[in-house]
Amino acid sequence: MHPDVVVVGAGIIGAACAQALSARGLDVVVIDRCGPASGTSAAGEGNVLVSDKEPGPELELAVASRALWPSLAEDCELARSVEWEEKGGLVVATTPDAAEPLRAFAAKQRAAGIDACELTVSEALTHEPHLNPEITAAVHYLQDAQLNPVKATRALLRGIKVINADVSTTDGRSVTTSTGVISCGAVVNATGPWARHFGVNVLPRRGVVLVTTPIPGTIRHKVYDADYVGAVASGDADLQTSGVVESTQAGTVLIGSSRQRKGFDDTIESKVLKALARKAVALFPMLTDVPVMRAYGGFRPYAPDHLPIIGPDPRTPGLWHATGHEGAGVGLAPATGRLLAELLTGATPHVDPRPFRVDRPEVMV
Ligand SMILES: Cc1cc2nc3c(=O)[nH]c(=O)nc-3n(C[C@H](O)[C@H](O)[C@H](O)COP(=O)(O)OP(=O)(O)OC[C@H]3O[C@@H](n4cnc5c(N)ncnc54)[C@H](O)[C@@H]3O)c2cc1C
Repeated sequence: MHPDVVVVGAGIIGAACAQALSARGLDVVVIDRCGPASGTSAAGEGNVLVSDKEPGPELELAVASRALWPSLAEDCELARSVEWEEKGGLVVATTPDAAEPLRAFAAKQRAAGIDACELTVSEALTHEPHLNPEITAAVHYLQDAQLNPVKATRALLRGIKVINADVSTTDGRSVTTSTGVISCGAVVNATGPWARHFGVNVLPRRGVVLVTTPIPGTIRHKVYDADYVGAVASGDADLQTSGVVESTQAGTVLIGSSRQRKGFDDTIESKVLKALARKAVALFPMLTDVPVMRAYGGFRPYAPDHLPIIGPDPRTPGLWHATGHEGAGVGLAPATGRLLAELLTGATPHVDPRPFRVDRPEVMV
């Protein structure tokens, strides 16, 4: 076996890279020590968001990705099977002081081409009848969407060879795995929160989600407190929580979000669960009476400057990275895969690759 490219990591990012490379005619093999969607990609909520991103390179990547997801899903006849839903997002302010910053943030995004419609409180309640009427402002983001990240990862990998093995080292032209050495033309490090092992500064940022029993049709959009945007942008290692609520096609309600940097400690702490539940009930008081079925957690691949890392490693010819997407890897996967494939094959990139390059001082380790 001598594939053109070995992709290490079969999460949503590795799968999107493999799909894009293979669509360009390259022979691709994906290697994962635990199998497809066994890492962070199984622990997310599956939102494809533009609403939470400041104008700048990440928003540009998100817009490009949002445009690609439906066609990618349609091309592979996957739209239904990956639970693709153009449900829209509703961002709300929950205090008088938070109303003006939310409106100002939405105005900046509108100037960058995002569909962000300011709603009155009564309009917001028409969109979401169970929303707390004490909210102080609301913005409706029509582009926000959702899918099932595990199904999407598996769908992207359809027809691509996936090997179960642990990769210990790479020199860019081969990988040493627990089952032997594979030589290849290039290697893509798509190992998410474990990417540091291959030389880039990615750290795990813990997140926990509560799942309720099904209440189909009750919550229609992704709804979140505007303070979520600040929590995402913060680099603080301490626990941060904000109210984030949405339902799945099965009718269960996913409640987040928490952020904490404490290595790969996977303890589920009651203080985190309590904070999430309290904030969800503040958004939707009716959730008080809805039982929680389970909780799970994952590790977001966090880059200290909050930008994904996509491109060649200048220190090791043949080694490429596609990682560091933190809490947005599901949304950013198609454009990441496409950009990586464009760079690797010498095609013109569809977004400016420079902000994501590997030789940023914060990224090289
Ligand atoms: C609670 C939570 C909620 C989230 N919600 C959303 C959301 O709504 N929308 C969104 O866009 N993003 C969300 N995210 C973030 C998103 O899940 C991640 O950005 C994305 O899954 C990262 O994908 P990845 O492929 O880079 O990493 P992973 O999915 O972790 O894949 C990496 C893979 O590499 C493999 N691997 C690692 N090291 C090796 C090795 N040495 N050899 C072989 N294999 C190896 C692992 O087994 C793993 O399968 C959320 C994350 C969390 C934790």
